[in-house]
Amino acid sequence: MSDILTCASCGAKNRVQAVPAGQVPSCARCGAALPWLHDGTDASFAGDIQASVPVIVDFWAPWCGPCRVMGPMLEDLARELAGKVRVVKVNVDENPRTPAQFGVQGIPTLVMFKDGQEVDQIVGVPQKAALRARVEHLTHL
Ligand SMILES: [Zn+2]
Repeated sequence: MSDILTCASCGAKNRVQAVPAGQVPSCARCGAALPWLHDGTDASFAGDIQASVPVIVDFWAPWCGPCRVMGPMLEDLARELAGKVRVVKVNVDENPRTPAQFGVQGIPTLVMFKDGQEVDQIVGVPQKAALRARVEHLTHL
C-alpha cells in the first residue's frame, strides 16, 4: 500500500511505498525529509508502528468533534518534525481490534511507539506546544 506524501519544502507530491528499515521517506525532487503520514489498519498495524523514528498513532473517528482538532494538529507536527517522526491515523470504527489491544477507552487518544514498543499515551486533545514537547522528548531518547 502506498501513501502520497506532500513535501513541506517544495510542495512536490511523492508516492511512497515501503520505506527500507532505518530510513525515513525523502522528497524525490528536493531531497528533504517528507512529513510521514499514514492511514493504519488492524491488518497493517504491526508493521505501521515499525520505524526508525518514534511513531505517533492517532485513534480517531469521523463523528468525533475533538478528533477534528487533533487531526490538523498532528499534520502540522508531521511537517514541523519531518524526518523525526511518523504519524499513523487509525479510524476506530473501521479498525476496532487495535484500539482494544492498546486499552483505548475514548477518542481522540494518541499512543506513541519507539522501536515498536508503546512509550507514551495521551487521552484527549493536548495543547500543541505540550504535544510537541512530549514528541520531541521521544525523538531524543
Ligand atoms: Zn521537495
